[in-house]
Amino acid sequence: MNANWNFDNSYARLPERFFTRLHPTPVSDPKLVVLNRSLAEELGLHAEALANEEGVAVFAGNRIPEGAEPLAQAYAGHQFGYFNMLGDGRAILLGEHVTPNGERVDIQLKGSGRTPYSRGGDGRAALGPMLREYIISEAMHALRIPTTRSLAVVTTGEVVIRDTELPGAILTRVAASHLRVGTFQYAARFLSKEELQALADYALKRHYPNGEHAPNRYLFLLEEVMKKQAELVAKWQLVGFVHGVMNTDNMTISGETIDYGPCAFMDVYDPRTVFSSIDTQGRYAYGNQPYIAGWNIARFAESLLPLLHEKQEKAIELAQEVIAQFPTLYETYWLQGMRAKLGLCTEEAEDKKLIGELLHLMYTHRLDYTNTFRALTLDEWHFCEKELCDWYTRWQQRIARQDMTKEEVYERMRQNNPAIIPRNYRVEEVLAAAVEHGDDTVMERLLQVLSDPHAYTKEQKEYAKPPEPSDRPYRTFCGT
Ligand code: AMP
Ligand code: MG
Repeated sequence: MNANWNFDNSYARLPERFFTRLHPTPVSDPKLVVLNRSLAEELGLHAEALANEEGVAVFAGNRIPEGAEPLAQAYAGHQFGYFNMLGDGRAILLGEHVTPNGERVDIQLKGSGRTPYSRGGDGRAALGPMLREYIISEAMHALRIPTTRSLAVVTTGEVVIRDTELPGAILTRVAASHLRVGTFQYAARFLSKEELQALADYALKRHYPNGEHAPNRYLFLLEEVMKKQAELVAKWQLVGFVHGVMNTDNMTISGETIDYGPCAFMDVYDPRTVFSSIDTQGRYAYGNQPYIAGWNIARFAESLLPLLHEKQEKAIELAQEVIAQFPTLYETYWLQGMRAKLGLCTEEAEDKKLIGELLHLMYTHRLDYTNTFRALTLDEWHFCEKELCDWYTRWQQRIARQDMTKEEVYERMRQNNPAIIPRNYRVEEVLAAAVEHGDDTVMERLLQVLSDPHAYTKEQKEYAKPPEPSDRPYRTFCGT
C-alpha cells in the first residue's frame, strides 16, 4: 500500500521570487519517533505506509514523494519590532496535499537542512524542541484552537550543536498554508506591485474565497485576517497560552497558530508572564499579546497599502478605519469566551466587571489560572478568604439570573474550561525521557490525556496539578 500522497502545488506557481526550489538535505540514519495516526487518517493518508521505511524516508527528507515540488519560502518580518529579511532557513515545503475531502494543506519539513535563507544557521533542529512543537500544537488542536499540526517527528541519526550536542530531528508540519504577515511584508518591500497583488489574490483564493468579488477585495482580505487573528488571540488568552515570539513572520494569514518555539502555558495568573529567555523586555508577555496582534495587523495593513487604493492618502485612510476596529473586535471575542467559561449564556452590562474582579483576585492571591476555572466548573470552590467567597456569591447570583439549570451551567463550563493544559513541567518530563533515555511512553501518556481536555477524567486530575512552587521561573529557549 502506498501512503496516498496527493500533491498539487499552487504556491510553486506564484512568481518565482516568492521561493527557491531546492531539496531537503538527506540525513544519515532516520528513525520514526512519533507518527500522528489520527491526523494521517483525517488527511486520507495511510499510516502503515507512512511508518515504513519509504514513509520515514519522506519525513527525513531523504525521499521526495511523487508530485512534491520542494521549495523554501521567502519572507521577511519584524522580529521584536525590527524589520529583517528572513525566509525558510531550516524548512522545506514539500508541497500541498489535497485530502479526499478536497482540503488543501501544506506539508512542510522543519529541520531539513540549510537553504539560501539560512543566514548563520545550520538549517537543523533538535529533538526536544520538535517534540515540544508536536505536543503543544496537538494540545492546542484538542483545545479547539486553530493551529498548524504535527504529522511526525523523526530523528536524523546526526547531532546538532547548540549549547551541547543534541540529537537532530525533523518535524513534519501540516498547515492550512504558510502564508504569513511577513510574506506580505517581503512582497511589499522587495517585489513589484504586480507580485504583491499576485500574492494577495492567491491568499484570497486559498483562504477567503468569498472576497474575490468584494468591491475592494484587498480591504476585505485585511478585515478577514484581522478578524481571524482577533479571534485566535482571544482563544490564546482564554486558555493562558503564551506564544512567546509573536514576530510578524510568525503570524499566519489563515489564522492558525504557528511556530511553537518558546511558547508555554501560564500557571499562576499574571499578565506579565513571560517564558522566553530572550524576551527580556516582556514585549510578548501574556497580557501584551492582544496589543501585539493589533500591531502586527497594522504591519499587514501597511504592506497592503498599494493595493487598497491608487492614492496613498486614501489607502491609509481605508486601512486605518479597518485596524481601528481591532481592540473592540478582540474584546468581543474575549468577552464571549469568558462568559462561556463562567457558564453565562445571557449578557449583562456588569459581566465585564465580574470577570475583571475574578482575574484581579487570581492575581492578588496567586491562583492558578486553569485550576481556578476548573474548581468553578467542578463546584470545588473551597476558598475561605472573604473576598474570594464574596466573588463566588456574586457569581452564583449572576448564574441564577439566567434561565438555565445548574446542570446546564456546569455542562457549558466543562465545554469551555479545559480540565488540563500541557503543564510546562509535564512537557519537560516528556522531553527528558525521550531525549535522554529514548523513552517515548511518557509522551504517549501525556498526548493521550491532552487529546480530550474537556473530558474531566480521573487520570487528568493527576495531570492538572500545578507545579511545585519554585524560586526559579520557568524559562524557554529560542535556540530551537
Ligand atoms: P523562528 O524564530 O523559528 O520563527 O525563526 C526565525 C528565522 O530564523 C526563520 O527565518 C528561520 O528559518 C530561521 N532559523 C531558525 N533556526 C534556524 C536554524 N537552525 N538554521 C537556519 N535558520 C534558522
Ligand atoms: Mg518562524
